[in-house]
Amino acid sequence: MNIDKSKELYERAEKVIPGGVNSPVRAFNSVGGTPLFMKKAEGAYLYDEDGNKYIDFISSWGPMLLGHAEPDVVKAVSEVAKHSTSFGAPTRLEVEIAELITSSIPGVDKIRMVNSGTEACMSAIRVARGYTGREKVLKFKGCYHGHGDSFLIEAGSGALTMGHPSSPGVTSGTAKDTLIAEFNDLNQVEEILTANKDEVAAIILEPIAGNMGCIPPKKGFLEGLRRLCDDHNVVMIMDEVMTGFRVHFGGAQAIYDVQADLVTYGKIIGAGLPVGAYGGKKEIMDYVAPTGPVYQAGTLSGNPLAMAAGLTLLKKLKEQPEVYDELDKKSSILEKGFRNALEGLNVPHVIYRVGSMIGIFYTEGPVEGFSGAEKTDKDFFGKIFHGMLERGVYLPPSPFEAFFLSNALTMEDISHTLTAFEETLEDILNH
Ligand SMILES: *Cc1c(COP(=O)(O)O)cnc(C)c1O
Repeated sequence: MNIDKSKELYERAEKVIPGGVNSPVRAFNSVGGTPLFMKKAEGAYLYDEDGNKYIDFISSWGPMLLGHAEPDVVKAVSEVAKHSTSFGAPTRLEVEIAELITSSIPGVDKIRMVNSGTEACMSAIRVARGYTGREKVLKFKGCYHGHGDSFLIEAGSGALTMGHPSSPGVTSGTAKDTLIAEFNDLNQVEEILTANKDEVAAIILEPIAGNMGCIPPKKGFLEGLRRLCDDHNVVMIMDEVMTGFRVHFGGAQAIYDVQADLVTYGKIIGAGLPVGAYGGKKEIMDYVAPTGPVYQAGTLSGNPLAMAAGLTLLKKLKEQPEVYDELDKKSSILEKGFRNALEGLNVPHVIYRVGSMIGIFYTEGPVEGFSGAEKTDKDFFGKIFHGMLERGVYLPPSPFEAFFLSNALTMEDISHTLTAFEETLEDILNH
């Protein structure tokens, strides 16, 4: 595989951008090798600067649920751009997307648009703190909520693989207000809430953990958290930046039938443009300025290009619920194929899948939270990653990221991927 142009760009990039990338996981640090510079993408395929083609299992970390360069999304963005890319004043598109979301998601009465998932989660905990008058928040080890200071306390994803469980630059003052529990461990949450009685403003969680591989909630976990939040007057924040509109149009809340007080969105909501959002119960959202006292603002929030892209994608998904069934079918074939290949060659593994999110851990398990996820064989994953890449399959370049499928994937793409996986496994085991 010729990657000369990527190599050249990476060399230039390293001189002028920290690590050569604008988000750490892109640097391939946990798998080694040269990051590939992408030139274009269409449907389920990525093309790098050297013209190599890959089947994409990142989907831009989620947004490309219907594939890249989706014609209606591209058209909407191009049309809107002709009439200016930002006004700094409200627009019709913002009303329409807010109406679409609030009318589709029970419990989201009002919603505020921001520019990233990070911003959404930072803002959500600020509102929860303002609303409750309490300062502490509880998060789960291995769950990622963006790079806000309050979350970089044993954060997952990028921070995890880089071996920085918490980041320098975050003050000890901030750190002391973040409490950490193990995902899927209800007893521990109860212990923490009891030990910090009347001090915890919010529990924030990924309802399906997707930033330490993919770990679904155990039966009763979300319901239990809901009950604990009610008992202790704690705001329950579901971070659906990854799962929202992906595992179901209504997100994890719809699948598990548990309603949060606040929900954060990102990724799919912007169809690949920089968007995040937080929303929830009217009485909490009315704490947000200018209605209420909790300050939160954004010069480019509700940007017309981003709103046009997001609105177009969300409308399509709402009108075509069969997309989710198709994705589920494709994902389940892939999951079964992975499982068969690993079982056939006696490779220790734990696989989870929820809809079009799949995570493979190369360990005997059990994997129910971070301490289990951490046991995955990272070197083995690195070999899988490169073996797949050589065979034209682009997996997330980290053992702690889920695979994200797009409905642009064909059955041929799925079988190509499974053949590549079997060949890669055999290659690794024979060397
Ligand atoms: C990606 C992600 C974020 C952060 O979103 P950004 O747009 O990268 O800031 C927050 N929470 C979850 C669950 C995510 O997957």
